[in-house]
Amino acid sequence: MNHYDIIIIGGGITGTAIAHECSKYKLTAALLERGTDIGIGATKGNGGVVHPGYDPTPGSLKAKINVQGANLYPKLAKDLNFGMINPGIFVIGFTDADEVALKHKLEFGIKNGVRDLAIINADQMRNREPHLAANAKHALYAPTATVVDPFEVAIAFAENAKANGVAILMSQPVTAIQKRRDGSFLINTPDRQLSCSYIVNAAGNHADNVASLAGISEYQMKPRHGDLLVLDKDMANKPQTVIFPCPRPDTKGIACIPTVHGNTIVGSTATMMDDKEAVNNYAPGIQALIDGVHKILPELDASKIIRTFAGLRPVVLDNNNDFFIAESQTVSGFIHAAGIQSPGVAAAPAIAEQVRDLLDNAGLKMIPKLDYNPYREKRIVFADLSIDQQDALIHQNPAYGRIVCRCETVTEGEIIDAIHGVIPAQTLDAVKRRTRAGMGRCQSGFCQYKVIAILSRELGLPVSDICLEDRGSQQLCGPVKGGVK
Ligand SMILES: Cc1cc2nc3c(=O)[nH]c(=O)nc-3n(C[C@H](O)[C@H](O)[C@H](O)COP(=O)(O)OP(=O)(O)OC[C@H]3O[C@@H](n4cnc5c(N)ncnc54)[C@H](O)[C@@H]3O)c2cc1C
Repeated sequence: MNHYDIIIIGGGITGTAIAHECSKYKLTAALLERGTDIGIGATKGNGGVVHPGYDPTPGSLKAKINVQGANLYPKLAKDLNFGMINPGIFVIGFTDADEVALKHKLEFGIKNGVRDLAIINADQMRNREPHLAANAKHALYAPTATVVDPFEVAIAFAENAKANGVAILMSQPVTAIQKRRDGSFLINTPDRQLSCSYIVNAAGNHADNVASLAGISEYQMKPRHGDLLVLDKDMANKPQTVIFPCPRPDTKGIACIPTVHGNTIVGSTATMMDDKEAVNNYAPGIQALIDGVHKILPELDASKIIRTFAGLRPVVLDNNNDFFIAESQTVSGFIHAAGIQSPGVAAAPAIAEQVRDLLDNAGLKMIPKLDYNPYREKRIVFADLSIDQQDALIHQNPAYGRIVCRCETVTEGEIIDAIHGVIPAQTLDAVKRRTRAGMGRCQSGFCQYKVIAILSRELGLPVSDICLEDRGSQQLCGPVKGGVK
């Protein structure tokens, strides 16, 4: 049986950021993820905004960690080679009451330590965003706000952690946890038994269930559901800035978000749910998004929607909407990184530092590794290369000359790289998250059967075993015409 100093449960952006932080120190660590890939919980269902930190109440844990996390992103994006854009945020006000609320957020931001915030007037807003609603009067402008692709960040954290010695184990749902007399933990998954000295619980919406496996009942959780829309890259009047309306106490409101890849996201609704797996979209939610975005950008063309998706924010109940990051009061050595609702993406790098300090306080000596490598190599993105670079690459390996996804210009070579990558892509959605094959306008209508064939060939599996994501999500039940066997 393998023993680790630390076992992290959950491979979302929180768990992978913690794995990345732990990989800097002389210790042994493993991350257990129940799904077939990294980042398949809340981490794949959000807007990707790295909020600068004007929203959380000053003095809250969320406020401190949000600002710290956002400040860590620029260096991480360089070191780990993930995409990040800096569109800034407008929070739009329409009425005098909104102006008061925006000034309130400005004060929050200044107290929380956010740089360069300002209230701007209608002309200043329209210089940058000419298609804003005619009745928009003023905005809180946060020029430092950035946007990332959240699952790219989680994969980058996990790949770098693995390269620096952390075991990243997929399809490992934790089903039992036992605290032993010597203080260590015994952890069971359906096909493994492992032991460790410290547990970090980063299980997202299931953090309370995982805690209860260790006999801990310090909080209860419910998910807050959010619908989102993706709009085509080819759209007139695209906003350059992330645009939010004036926030409500339970939500930042329906925003329009430019993405790293040139699409536009509209999100999100906010509805408390009981079902922790309910990532369906709901018709009233979609309508609320369209109506909501038209209040800030009336000309936005809803016929350009190419996909809808949803995510569940992990909320710890009766906790003032704050994160719950602490060592258990009843089981020593068990650290909670729970209730990581929005802005969990922005906060993730700082949550990891907070967990590091909690582990250190709990008795694990964090001694820096001298051979830690902070860099992750950039993957080949054929579409981003010059014609000369593309020619040279095809000459070296003809697989880069075969376009599989024509919407996003993704080649067979890139798909093969993803399947054999540091954290190998084993499913259609895992290939999609790494390469963007299937993310374009046709949403995989033209390329899915080709990606199935490549996965089948590279993994040595029949096409009927290739899944979309989870077990049981096969797309084919046998051979079909056209070469997919
Ligand atoms: C609609 C919406 C919009 C949002 N927009 C933003 C935004 O713009 N900016 C921002 O900063 N934040 C945003 N967020 C919040 C952000 O998505 C979350 O804070 C973040 O993704 C939480 O990550 P996590 O790793 O804690 O949880 P998750 O990503 O859910 O990861 C938890 C992981 O634990 C695994 N797991 C569960 N049980 C077990 C088990 N028993 N054994 C092993 N593994 C297990 C799950 O499979 C999952 O992969 C948004 C959220 C939503 C829903």
